[in-house]
Amino acid sequence: MLPNAIKIWNDCLLEIKAKINRQSFKTWFKNTEGISVDSEKLVVQVKDQFTVDWLEQHYLVLIGDILEKILGNRLCITLAVDKGNGEFTYSTPTMSKYKLYNTETASEDRHLNPRYTFDNFVVGSSNQFAHAATLAVSEAPGANKYNPLFIYGGVGLGKTHLIQAIGHFVKEENKKKNVIYVTSERFTNEFIGSLVNNTTQEFNRVYKNLDVLLIDDVHFFSGKAGIQSNFFHIFNSLHQKGKQIVLTSDTQPGLITGLTERLLSRFNWGLVVDIRSPDYETRMAILKKKTEFQGIELPPAVLDYIAQNVNSNIRELEGSLIRLEAFSSITGKPFTVDLAREVVSHYRQNAPRTVTVGDIQKKVAEFYSMPKEAFAQKCRTKDIAFARQVAMYISRELTGNTLKMIGLQFGGRDHSTVIHACNLIEEKSRKDEMFKRSIEQLMGEIRN
Ligand code: ADP
Ligand code: MG
Repeated sequence: MLPNAIKIWNDCLLEIKAKINRQSFKTWFKNTEGISVDSEKLVVQVKDQFTVDWLEQHYLVLIGDILEKILGNRLCITLAVDKGNGEFTYSTPTMSKYKLYNTETASEDRHLNPRYTFDNFVVGSSNQFAHAATLAVSEAPGANKYNPLFIYGGVGLGKTHLIQAIGHFVKEENKKKNVIYVTSERFTNEFIGSLVNNTTQEFNRVYKNLDVLLIDDVHFFSGKAGIQSNFFHIFNSLHQKGKQIVLTSDTQPGLITGLTERLLSRFNWGLVVDIRSPDYETRMAILKKKTEFQGIELPPAVLDYIAQNVNSNIRELEGSLIRLEAFSSITGKPFTVDLAREVVSHYRQNAPRTVTVGDIQKKVAEFYSMPKEAFAQKCRTKDIAFARQVAMYISRELTGNTLKMIGLQFGGRDHSTVIHACNLIEEKSRKDEMFKRSIEQLMGEIRN
C-alpha cells in the first residue's frame, strides 16, 4: 500500500509543478508526502494546518483533476498533519470553501522595486510565516480570510520587500489587476494635495477601484485623524467588495499610538503577522544569495564573520557587503576576516543601536522586580525561573543571537534550555491573551 501512495502523489506533484507558479509550489507542496491510498481516498501528509486550509481553498480542484487524470477515477484527498508525536490530525476537504477570483479589471501599478520579488527573498524561521501569508494573499487576493493582511516588524527586516513582492506576483499572474503600492507618507501627501486642488473625489475614486491596495508603513498615520478618517472609508469600501488590503507597520496595530479605535479594529480583522530579526542561518543564507547576485566570492570565514556580527537587520547586512566590496576594490586588499572586521566596526559605529541580551535582562528584571543577576544564577525558585524564560524568549525574538549565544548569557545554560523556555512562553501566550499582551508590551518597550 505505502509505496503506491508515495508514487501516486509524486506523479501528482510533477503535474502540479508544471501547472503552478514555482514559488507557490515550493511553499505549499514541498515536503508533502503520500502516506496511504485505498479505493476511495489518498492520504497526504502536509506541513501544518495553515497549509491544509490553503490547499483546501485553492488547490482542491486542481489536485482532484490531476488525480483523475493519473488514476482514471476521482479519489477523495485527505490531508494529514503530524501533531508532533507521530500521531496525525486528518481532514478531508470539501469543495465548499473553494473560491475563484475574478480577473477582469483595468490596471495600474506604481513604484515597485524590480528587485523586491519572491524569488529574491530568502525564507528563514524569522520571516517564514510572513512569507507564507504574503504568498497566500498573492495567489488569491481578496478571496481569502487574510484581509487585511497586516505585517509588522523592525526596520530593515523585509516588510517593504514582501509587500512589493505581492504587487509583482499579482501583476505577473494577471496584468489587468488594479494594484497600487504606496507608502503611507505618499498617500498622505497625495491626499493633502487633493484637498488643496479640490480633487479629493478623484483621489478616493482611484483608491476605491483597486483590486489590491498595498500600503506601507501605516504607523505614519499615527495621530493624523483626518487622513485616518479618509483611509477608513477607502478601507471599508475595498473590504466590502472583497478587494485585498495589505498593510505594514513597525509595530503591531495595538501599539501604533494615536490610531483611532475604529481603524485599529479594522487592522485586526484579518491576519496579523510579524517579521523578526533573522537568525544566524538566515543571515548566512541571505549573504550567500546577495554575494551570488553581485557575483562576488567570499571565503566562508568572512561570510561567517559578517553573519555573526551584523545581526540586527538585513539592510545592515547588505550595507556591510557593499562596503566590503568597495573597501577591497579601493584598497586592493583581499577579502579577509580582518578586512571584514574593519568594515563591520566602521559600519556599526553608524548603525542604530540594537537590542542586546543585557538590555532585555535589565528590562525584564525591572518588570518582575528582581535583580538581573538572578538570571545567571542557578536559583530555581519558580518566579525567577519564569522571568528567566521570558527573558530568553524575548532575546530570541529581538536580538538575532543564536540560541547557543543566548544560553551562554544566562549563566552558561545550553541551547536546549533556551528552546524549552521559548516553547513554554509561546504555549502560554497562545492560551492566555492577557499574558501575550503583556509580553508584547514589554517587547515594544525594549525595542524603543
Ligand atoms: P523594511 O521595509 O522592513 O524596513 P526592506 O523590505 O526595505 O525592510 O528590506 C531591507 C533590505 O533588505 C532590502 O534591500 C531587502 O531586499 C533586503 N531583504 C530583507 N529581507 C530579505 C530577505 N528575506 N531576503 C533577501 N533580502 C531581504
Ligand atoms: Mg520599509
